[in-house]
Amino acid sequence: MTNYGMDTKCVQAGYTPGNGEPRQIPIVQSTTFKYNTSEDMGKLFDLEASGYFYTRLQNPTNDYVAAKIAALEGGTAAMLTSSGQAANFFALFNICETGSHIVSSASIYGGTFNLIAVTMKKMGIDVTFVSPDCTEEELNAAFRENTRAVFGETIANPALTVLDIEKFAKAAHAHGVPLIVDNTFPTPVNCRPIEWGADIVTHSTTKYMDGHGAAVGGCVVDSGKFDWMAEAEKFPGLTTPDESYHGIVYAEKFGKEGAFITKCTAQMMRDLGCIQSPQNAFYLNLGLESLHVRMPKHVENGQAVAEFLEKHPKVVKVSYPGLASDPYHALAEKYLPKGGCGVVSFEIEGGRAAAEAFMGKLKLAAIETHVADARTCCLNPATSTHRQLTDEQLAAAGIPAGLVRMSCGLESKEDLIADIEQALA
Ligand SMILES: *Cc1c(COP(=O)(O)O)cnc(C)c1O
Repeated sequence: MTNYGMDTKCVQAGYTPGNGEPRQIPIVQSTTFKYNTSEDMGKLFDLEASGYFYTRLQNPTNDYVAAKIAALEGGTAAMLTSSGQAANFFALFNICETGSHIVSSASIYGGTFNLIAVTMKKMGIDVTFVSPDCTEEELNAAFRENTRAVFGETIANPALTVLDIEKFAKAAHAHGVPLIVDNTFPTPVNCRPIEWGADIVTHSTTKYMDGHGAAVGGCVVDSGKFDWMAEAEKFPGLTTPDESYHGIVYAEKFGKEGAFITKCTAQMMRDLGCIQSPQNAFYLNLGLESLHVRMPKHVENGQAVAEFLEKHPKVVKVSYPGLASDPYHALAEKYLPKGGCGVVSFEIEGGRAAAEAFMGKLKLAAIETHVADARTCCLNPATSTHRQLTDEQLAAAGIPAGLVRMSCGLESKEDLIADIEQALA
């Protein structure tokens, strides 16, 4: 599939049926798989042969869909996880352990921020957050001798900052560690971070990839480019024998292309079990089949709504990298030439009460803790996700009380604008 275009890959990559086999990917709704001899099964447990034995680790349906996402991102291997949270945790924990340190952009999804700053901290993994706008000097200064990974989001949820992927990749590689990029918002249709130097790409497939608000899921993709053996002492989990698999050295046995995902499957999935259900993988694949058709429409609607809001007298500020006035416009032109996503953040005059009143008057856009599906939805962080904060604390966090995050769906842009116009009036 490597020579085909993005559209063809969205529709057909990952699964090629044989003669007389189902055209659509089969849902292998089975926890377990049958073998004729104990020896056959033993080879699977020793990673001597590839095959399925228990769906907590691997399932054929998931593997078809993971292979499609790997093809879309230009990676060599991928795995599905039960959620985007699990994907980011697996990507980091596959190479970090107690005593490790992570350099992360501060402008990331709140759930990932908590994962790294609170939960992984309890595991003894430290983090230094840097502004996505930091200079190369500031970025390099954040590294320590025990740094094992750099993390950022292509377009941050909900701040809508754009990551300078090349800047972060350069710093990561100069310190001998991989760059992990969460590419949930643009999807590979609008940006492929591996082409700009990212080593590992993660997704909350719950968002645009599924695209219909139907199934929670995640994905980890390996570029196959990071040379673990060249930094062997930093990544003993990949470069020294795994006693729980009869002394296999992942980086030796599976090479640059396969080591990361094989270890992530064999250890992380085996021990932590955050597998995506095959049924959800099937829904995800239905979404992927139209991802290349849906993304341009999300961008078109987001751009139109952002341009309308920017001119409205009751709107104080609009964040959307597609606007020429946006501070991230230049980075968006470089990394997101086809546009970013359908999510627009804006601040309404009159703070919390005005935002609440505005959202209550919307007829098409529903109030939801969600983004990136076919139906337009919106959220006021001050009265929902960040409800416990005072107005002063909100301001300090860079989230004004009157901020509305609107995820533009696939409806007619004229209808979305008319809805916003009447609600603002
Ligand atoms: C939603 C989201 C996540 C978390 O994904 P879930 O599927 O909800 O667990 C991670 N990163 C980004 C950028 C997200 O938008």
